[in-house]
Amino acid sequence: MADLMPTATKIVPVSRPDLGPAELDAVARVLASGWVAMGPETERFEAEFAAFTDARFACAVSSGTAALHVALKSLGIGPGDEVITASHSFIATASAIRLCGALPVFVDIDPQTFNLDPLLIEPAIGPRTRAILCVHQMGMPCDLKAILKLARARGIPVVEDAACAAGSEILWENEWQRIGRPHGEIACFSFHPRKTMTTGEGGMLTTNDPHLDARFRLQRNHGMSVPAHDRHSSPRVISESYDALGWNYRLSDVQSAIGRVQLRRLPEFVTRRRVLASVYRRLLAENPEVTAPVEPSWARTNWQSYCVRLAADLDQRAVMQELLDQGVATRRGVMCAHREPAYPEGTWRAAGNLRHSEDAQDRTIWIPLATGMSEEEAAFVAECLGRVCRR
Ligand SMILES: *Cc1c(COP(=O)(O)O)cnc(C)c1O
Repeated sequence: MADLMPTATKIVPVSRPDLGPAELDAVARVLASGWVAMGPETERFEAEFAAFTDARFACAVSSGTAALHVALKSLGIGPGDEVITASHSFIATASAIRLCGALPVFVDIDPQTFNLDPLLIEPAIGPRTRAILCVHQMGMPCDLKAILKLARARGIPVVEDAACAAGSEILWENEWQRIGRPHGEIACFSFHPRKTMTTGEGGMLTTNDPHLDARFRLQRNHGMSVPAHDRHSSPRVISESYDALGWNYRLSDVQSAIGRVQLRRLPEFVTRRRVLASVYRRLLAENPEVTAPVEPSWARTNWQSYCVRLAADLDQRAVMQELLDQGVATRRGVMCAHREPAYPEGTWRAAGNLRHSEDAQDRTIWIPLATGMSEEEAAFVAECLGRVCRR
C-alpha cells in the first residue's frame, strides 16, 4: 500500500470532525439501554439545543435538508408559491423549495460576506412570494435586521438556513445572541460532519411558535399522534393515529447522544476556530493576491468554512492543484444552484443578475480549518498559499 500513497504523505485536510472518548461513552450508554431509535436522548438533546440557542422549541430531524423541507412545508409552501433565496448556497437550500413544489427566486449576494444582499430582496418580492429563505453562509450571520424589517412590513415569514451556523452570534438589541433563537420564524441546522458540530448526519429546527413546533413533530414522524417511545414507556395501552402526511425524518438516540456531547463542546470548538481564523487573517493580510473573508462588526461567525478569494487572473483549479501538491487540501467555494444540470430553465427565477454569486463560485476556495489543527499548521497553509499565488 505504501507505494500507492501520494508523494506529499501528510495532507492538511479541509476539515475534520472532532469526536473523542466522551462521544464514544455516550454511544455505548445508548446501545446498552436497549432503545436506539428516537426517544429520551433525542428529547434531552432538543431541550439542551433550545436552551443553547434561547429558542422556546427545538425539534431534531435526520438532516439539515430534512429540517428545511419540514420548515417550508409547515409554513404551507406549495405549488404556485415563490420563495426568495440565494443560488450561491449548498444545493439543499434551493432544492428544499422545489421539493415543496414551489419556485426558488434567486437574489444575488454581497461579495464581501457571501450572504443575500438585502437591497436586492425588495425588488424580488411579488404577489406569489410566500417566504424568504436566508442563509448564514459558511456560518457567517446574514443581515437579519435588514431582512426582517423588509419581511415583517409585508407579513412574509423568514426561514433561516442556519445549517452551518451553530455557535455563531449576532449583535441584537445591544447584546450578542446566538443564531437560532430564532430571529426569523424558523431556523434550520445541520449536523453533517462538515459543520461545526456533528451527529454523523442530523438536523434541528428551532422556533418560538408552538403551532409550528407541533407541525414539525408530526411531519418528521409519519404524522403519528403518539411517538413510539411514549407508547413504550406508558403504563397504559395507547394506540396512535396518523393525523397528517409525514416522512421518516427522525434522528436516532444514538445520534442524539453524540449531539449532546458535541453541543457541550461547541463553545470551545468555536473559540478554537476563531483563533485559527485570526492566524489566517493576520498572515493573509501580507498577500495581495488573496482576499480574506470579512466579518461585519455585528457578527461573530463560527468560521464553519474559511473562504478566500483569489485575484482575478489566478486560475482556481491550478491554485488548488498546486496547494494539494504541497500538502494542503482545499475545496472550491460555495456552488451556485442555478448552474447545475438539475436546475434547467423554468425550475427557478432570478431577480436581477447573479454575477456576484457566479464570481464567488469561480474565484473562491476553502482552505483548511479544523479544531484539531495547530497554529503552526495554519501558518504553513498561509505560507503555501502565498508561495502558490505569488507571481
Ligand atoms: C450542509 C448544508 C445544508 C444541508 O444539510 P444536510 O445536513 O447535509 O442535509 C443545507 N444548507 C446549507 C447552507 C448547508 O451548508
